[in-house]
Amino acid sequence: MTTEGKTLSTGLQDFISKLDVDAVGIAILADWKETRLEETALKLLPQTRSVVVLAMEISREILDLASPGKERGVASLSDLLDSDADFLYGRLTKASYDVAKASRKLGLRALPLPARGCPQDTRFLEAVFSYKHAAQAAGLGSIGRHSLLITPEFGSRVRLSCCLTEAVLEPTQGNAVDECGSCRMCIDNCPAGALAEPKAGQPYAIDKFACSAFRTASDACVECLRLCPAGRPG
Ligand code: SF4
Ligand code: SF4
Repeated sequence: MTTEGKTLSTGLQDFISKLDVDAVGIAILADWKETRLEETALKLLPQTRSVVVLAMEISREILDLASPGKERGVASLSDLLDSDADFLYGRLTKASYDVAKASRKLGLRALPLPARGCPQDTRFLEAVFSYKHAAQAAGLGSIGRHSLLITPEFGSRVRLSCCLTEAVLEPTQGNAVDECGSCRMCIDNCPAGALAEPKAGQPYAIDKFACSAFRTASDACVECLRLCPAGRPG
């Protein structure tokens, strides 16, 4: 089987489908010509043909224990979320490195991007490669009013890593649905007032600097993530 004259890496595709993560999406750059996804991927790895996006679910039980702020002298159960993140980031980063290693075994170039610590232009709080937009392109979900990825299975409770690879893979597809509908929960409850009603045609409107300043000052905030009803039964 070929795509654009290149042989599909079916062995690698099988390997990826068996990775120990909760969801995998694949976007083919040829389908995203002249987009920011293509531009940023090629800047990092000029040979990129496919973007593999790996996802793990954040424990619902742990997220439910997170509280909006830390009270002085009181143990914060939000700390459990940090341990959960460490675990998920470790698994996701390992998976992206595994994809890169398997690509290289086939003589193909690959660049693993870690779940935590993707380089950022801190002047604009912008990562050099947007995992959530790659995930959306790979059909894993859509981006909600809180600016985060929402998947049909896990709602907003997902963490991501990526691997850029020269391999030609079969793209995954999902049904792009508006998960937000008439909900405004995150906009109305953001303690920093960082979220606003998006303009027509835009999925979200966030003041990243207000969010970041609040998160730093309050020792993290996950209110938009915690309150989002998407992907929660009932
Ligand atoms: S809280 Fe509501 S509006 Fe905000 S992202 Fe979730 S579903 Fe969308
Ligand atoms: S993380 Fe907190 S401050 Fe930032 S947008 Fe979400 S609710 Fe607002």
